[in-house]
Amino acid sequence: MALLRLANITKKYKLENGKERVVLDNISLSFSNNGFVSIIGKSGSGKSTLLNMISLLDEPTNGCVYFNGKKINKFNLKEKEDYRNKNIGIIFQHYYLLEDESVIFNIMLPLLIKGINVNEAAIKSKNLLKTIDFNEKLYNSKCKDLSGGEKERVAILRSLVNNPQIILADEPTGALDSINSILIMELLKQISKDRLVIVVSHNEQLVDKYSDRKITIKDGKIDSDSEYKKDIKIIEKMHEEKHNKKSYWIRSLSKSNFISRIKRNIIGMTSLFVGLVSSLLIVGFSNGSPSSIKKSTYQQIDYGVATISKETSQQIPGSKMSLVQMTRPSEAELINSQNALEHFYLEPNITTLISKYPTIKSGDSRLEELSYNPIYSFIDNSLNKDLLIKGKIPEEETLSEVLINKKGYEYIKKEFKSEPIGLTLSIHNEYEYHSYGNTNQVITDYFIYDKEITIVGMVDDLNFLSTPKLYYSYQVIKEYLQETLLVNMSAKKGEEITWYDMIINCDNSEDLSSYSYLLFLKDHKNTPYLKDYIDLVQPPLKIESPSLTISDALFSLINAATLGMELFLVIALVGTTLILGIISFSSYTEDKKTSAILTCLGASKKEIFSIYFYENLFICLISLISSLIFAPLLALLANFIIKSITGFINMISIPLLAVLIIIPSTIIICSLATYLPLFFSKKISPKEELSEE
Ligand code: ADP
Ligand code: MG
Repeated sequence: MALLRLANITKKYKLENGKERVVLDNISLSFSNNGFVSIIGKSGSGKSTLLNMISLLDEPTNGCVYFNGKKINKFNLKEKEDYRNKNIGIIFQHYYLLEDESVIFNIMLPLLIKGINVNEAAIKSKNLLKTIDFNEKLYNSKCKDLSGGEKERVAILRSLVNNPQIILADEPTGALDSINSILIMELLKQISKDRLVIVVSHNEQLVDKYSDRKITIKDGKIDSDSEYKKDIKIIEKMHEEKHNKKSYWIRSLSKSNFISRIKRNIIGMTSLFVGLVSSLLIVGFSNGSPSSIKKSTYQQIDYGVATISKETSQQIPGSKMSLVQMTRPSEAELINSQNALEHFYLEPNITTLISKYPTIKSGDSRLEELSYNPIYSFIDNSLNKDLLIKGKIPEEETLSEVLINKKGYEYIKKEFKSEPIGLTLSIHNEYEYHSYGNTNQVITDYFIYDKEITIVGMVDDLNFLSTPKLYYSYQVIKEYLQETLLVNMSAKKGEEITWYDMIINCDNSEDLSSYSYLLFLKDHKNTPYLKDYIDLVQPPLKIESPSLTISDALFSLINAATLGMELFLVIALVGTTLILGIISFSSYTEDKKTSAILTCLGASKKEIFSIYFYENLFICLISLISSLIFAPLLALLANFIIKSITGFINMISIPLLAVLIIIPSTIIICSLATYLPLFFSKKISPKEELSEE
């Protein structure tokens, strides 16, 4: 039985003008399993097309190809790849070696593709090189450094190494001088002893001497076919080597591709690195900022100070505007909000008498930016003593000692170039109060607050957005007001009336009431988030807390910023995937010839794609690892800078989950960037890529 049989093969090409061109015209040929068969014909007569029919690089329009009696021209892609790898060795006129790889690597490539392990493949390749006395010094040289004759011999050995039953050589000596051509013919003759060697040539003279059979083609038809000069030798089929698919060659090619395209790959790595690091930081920011703001809000000494008032609004008839009026709620109205208020001390608001902005002086100079603020007490649980940075907290309730915040400390230090702790200031505030006696007579009382105060300690606070502040104890002021009389009114009425009584008993909509009550959180340690209480209070009652107003504003700001950043993140990741995709697309397009060669050696499309996948995977892993190292370091640095500017601690906190998610995401980016462009790129046709010009 013939090893190979072509039965009525016709090959037609459709031309662009719509006409057909018959390149092979009903050709039938049988080949036995050894011998040197030459195919002679003029250029364009259809010789290469005929070889492509045998190697299944091209399909006949009509007719069948049989191998060992089996019809093979309708094989699927995988079967074709397998058939080529196991049974066919192809030698091209232009050698088509992987020029950047070594001699040894090129020869062992078909073995590696087959799944033979690298050591065994190397031994086999060396043995082959020895049989033709190939210069041992050149074994590890890159093919691009070899002479034409040397390259051709390497190409022949590569076609042989898998021990295929058929060797197809298309114009193997076309580019060689006559001495080298003879050497090559000798070599092909030698290997044709135990396999079928089909040599295409237009040089009849050269091949004549070596041919066991000579076929001439003219215009796609067989013009002549000489008989075999010698008997057909039956060769036993080699036993199959064990296949253990190892992707050594794929990784090895990926690696050399990676190195040869290092500049491009650095761009890819950098863009992915930037993408991954910014993703981690952005996720870290949206994860860390809310709790950081919450914590920072909590870390203020007047965190628990708020006011509660009643807000009523009245539509102005005929207008879209409404009149909003604030009053101090009545006790009955407060009872409804008892569940929220039980965590607070509810006190009359004294800020009409003790203004937040009294005249504060050091000697003769006025400290205009400094404000004067109540906290409940210096000694009880409402105070977070951990916030003290410098100096001390007054050990008893006293009017003559105050605390200062960081901003205030810096302000005084800058204005007076002296140490604020221990500094004595004078405070002055006046208030004029009119009341009416029985006979519509106006009684005027003056509240004059004149004190010497000493700054004894500095407390930490949100430096960012805070203003210079002094803190005094509400307890002492309260006592002070309870002891200070309205002199004129008391005299008129004949009883002792204190300023404190006046505030308590005044009308809720009167100036003196400050239109509100002061709230002081009772216990800073065991009190959860202030906002929860505020939400419990039903309109028209309304709690106002300066620290929460600031944090609310910050939350809105951060939310807007995070949204923007997340948008940026998506763009960054899509952009990165695109950049990587473009890189692998251009690499793949650039390497079309190499892919075609690998296809001819039996490599599957999947394996060829894997070369690019590994290259990208390598890029991705390097970027991933470096971003996993750098992102936390950058976060640390950013946190340090944010803290020193704004006082917020740990604004960026990268969650473990993000790290866990980013690993598979990177692999997905890598796969998308590899397979999508390859999927959409033009299919490589080895026949066209490698057709002899
Ligand atoms: P040879 O190897 O004998 O020089 P080929 O087998 O390469 O010739 O080509 C035979 C003929 O088929 C040539 O005239 C060539 O132009 C034509 N041919 C080959 N491939 C195509 C194609 N894809 N489309 C149209 N014509 C083709
Ligand atoms: Mg040709």
